[in-house]
Amino acid sequence: MGAYIAVDVGGTQIRAAVFPEDGVEPIRQKKILTRDKDAHPETRMNDLIAELWPAQEKVVAIGVAAPGPLDPKAGVIINAPNIPNWKNFPLRNYVQERFGVPVELGNDANLAAMGEWKFGAGRGHDNLVYLTISTGIGGGVICDGHLLLGLRGFAAELGHVTLIPDGPRCSCGQPGHLEAISSGTGIANYVAEELKKGAPSCLSLDPLPTAKDINLAAQKGDSLAVAAIERAGMYLGLGLSNYLQIFNPSIIILGGSVTQCGDLLFNPMKAELKQRVMGPEYLTNLTITKAGLGDMVGLLGALALVRNLYH
Ligand SMILES: [Zn+2]
Repeated sequence: MGAYIAVDVGGTQIRAAVFPEDGVEPIRQKKILTRDKDAHPETRMNDLIAELWPAQEKVVAIGVAAPGPLDPKAGVIINAPNIPNWKNFPLRNYVQERFGVPVELGNDANLAAMGEWKFGAGRGHDNLVYLTISTGIGGGVICDGHLLLGLRGFAAELGHVTLIPDGPRCSCGQPGHLEAISSGTGIANYVAEELKKGAPSCLSLDPLPTAKDINLAAQKGDSLAVAAIERAGMYLGLGLSNYLQIFNPSIIILGGSVTQCGDLLFNPMKAELKQRVMGPEYLTNLTITKAGLGDMVGLLGALALVRNLYH
């Protein structure tokens, strides 16, 4: 029997798991903190893989999900701002040299799309758009049964489409991207701006409200908080209407903490989507649903990547 090792690297923690040849229940798994004063993240990651290495089964391949931008074809992290020293870092070779088995690398949001496609809410759909909405907005697209990568694997940055040319500044530096408006950060920044202008609200500037605070206030009916989430939902719908025309998916899967806002976010999103889409044929047989894999999505995405290639 063969086994696969999946690794999910984030700015806060590194998770790894050993999976059997089939099925999605890990044989062993462990998570550690990404940062430690005594060792680099890449050394910690390799040590974690070594610790979990199965004694009986032969390891077929290792899949790694990491924050982008990264080049999945070259196996190089271009720049992971939350991980010290990971700039033009050849992660695939680094892991491959130590363990001597095939290693594949993917952008975490792209692999989340793959995970949902193979094991989660998107099973059976070969045209799928996935968005994760939390601090930022990440995306992944399955198009005609393939993960969409583009020339160097930089495709499907669905959070970085321009919706307001002179809008709020995005984390990437450009103005008016979807991420700058509808992410948790975008919602919090909007509320802070409105509070500074004197908008009435139970929220105050001290301390600055987070997206979670704003959702709680909105659920109690606070008008500014409600308006902020509805605005995020409206722009999300605008973004999605563009993706419908570009990718013609049969399912849109929404993950990430901001989806906890529920209908307050989804109702204006759906209304805008309906209003903006080019024709009703894009909405026929379209499913819009929440993500199904929870916090296992990174590991299962990395598993989906290697199983797809080496099974
Ligand atoms: Zn951006």
